[in-house]
Amino acid sequence: MSESSDIQTTASSVVALPDSYVQQMQALLGVKEADEFLASFNAPRAYGLRLNPLKLSDDANQPAIQALKQQFSLRPIPWCETGYYYNETTRPGKHPYHQAGIYYIQEPSAMSAAQALDPQPGETILDLAAAPGGKTTQIAGRMQGEGLLISNEIHPARARILSENVERYGIRNAVVTCAPPDVLSARFPLFFDRIMLDAPCSGEGMFRKDPDAIGEWSPDHVQMCADRQADILEHAAIMLKPGGRLVYSTCTFNRSENELAMEAFLAKHPEFKLERTERLWPHHCEGEGHFVAVLTKDASMGYTIFVPMNQAATSQRDQRNATQRGKGKPKSSGSNSSLASDMALFEAFAVEALPGFKLGPGEPVRFGDALYWLPHDREGRFSAASIEGLKVVRPGLQLGELKTKRIEPAHALALAIRSEEAAQLASFEAEAPETAAYLRGEALSDASGNLSGWTIAAVDGFPLGWAKASGGQLKNHLPKGLRRLT
Ligand code: SAM
Repeated sequence: MSESSDIQTTASSVVALPDSYVQQMQALLGVKEADEFLASFNAPRAYGLRLNPLKLSDDANQPAIQALKQQFSLRPIPWCETGYYYNETTRPGKHPYHQAGIYYIQEPSAMSAAQALDPQPGETILDLAAAPGGKTTQIAGRMQGEGLLISNEIHPARARILSENVERYGIRNAVVTCAPPDVLSARFPLFFDRIMLDAPCSGEGMFRKDPDAIGEWSPDHVQMCADRQADILEHAAIMLKPGGRLVYSTCTFNRSENELAMEAFLAKHPEFKLERTERLWPHHCEGEGHFVAVLTKDASMGYTIFVPMNQAATSQRDQRNATQRGKGKPKSSGSNSSLASDMALFEAFAVEALPGFKLGPGEPVRFGDALYWLPHDREGRFSAASIEGLKVVRPGLQLGELKTKRIEPAHALALAIRSEEAAQLASFEAEAPETAAYLRGEALSDASGNLSGWTIAAVDGFPLGWAKASGGQLKNHLPKGLRRLT
């Protein structure tokens, strides 16, 4: 008997599904429905993007939204109000609007989880397994820049990608950390109003989208994932406030990583209630497979802050891991008065270049020469001291890079503002040669001849980055790593 069943995909490739996987799907769905499910491998996969509410307000940007809908043949995704299917031939990832963070490209079913989290402006929210940033950007869009979002990713390389996506999306109130869940739970017990746990899983729901994932699948791998999920869930439970909401999601069909994982968790945690679960199936909707569970934590029970036995070991590991970008520890406003003069430099810059810009509740922190604005939570429990010794990739909104007696504005700042907040704007249409030239890192000429100093370069009014005007020229300040070679 063969060990696998061959399935022809729409990508004209043949994928081999392990027999034990096919049998598992037959046991889960029944033979007839399993056939329908397996036939979905032959159906075209759906492509999705989410419009960015941090950059597109309903009124002012209606013409731009209509143009986007036409350009990418957008059709609404029923379970996410900012989500749309796009026609893959329109390639939105290549469009300058993508670089301006006007939308985030995301598999449609994956949009269901942050929707179930129902984040609110002003809350304190943790996205515990956040890279590359689909759920984080969706959560941040709902928070509208108010409150505190901690976006965590355990793997450093993936945490850097997460951080870039946070930057492009223009999120002002996110702190990107790179820590194992136990390090966070030792530091932030009973801390978050909502926690998103989009757990690492066996990825069965992604086999059609990513046939390479099939090669990693085995019953042993599923068990390893289930054990890891149980461990991460324990730490999520510690960090949730009484009355808080935890959303657990996976992109797998496997019951041991979904319903059975929830059953085992609830058996250990009577303080939690399972509000509902949801499964998205590729043969029932336009999207890949996804599982979402909504849990709430009892508000009336007394909770003691759990201090793990190995906390000493954990904090030692914290210290070893504290290799923040920039060098060493962050300097908080309380510990270093030079931060006041750093902020004075920034404020002088902002008065000139960003007269409409206001910072939310927070404090300045410095990582090396980079000056950031660390967001505070509304209860005043989170400050620079909260991240000391923690591996932090992005301690909030980067304001600029400190030079001798001046500050150079950060790219993140350009992407976090709206063009109305800037004193000077050089905006070009998406198809204009100047837009492509700016994205290649070239200098532009200032057709008006009136610009001087820091200027926002924009596509159709949406900021792309900084340029510095002088003598009829706009010097390009797009970071080298973001320049397009073609
Ligand atoms: N939420 C992300 C999004 O929407 O873009 C996708 C997250 S992905 C499904 C799961 C993430 O968990 C991966 O980035 C992986 O690196 C991370 N991860 C792996 N092992 C982990 C662990 N032990 N604890 C926490 N996260 C882990």
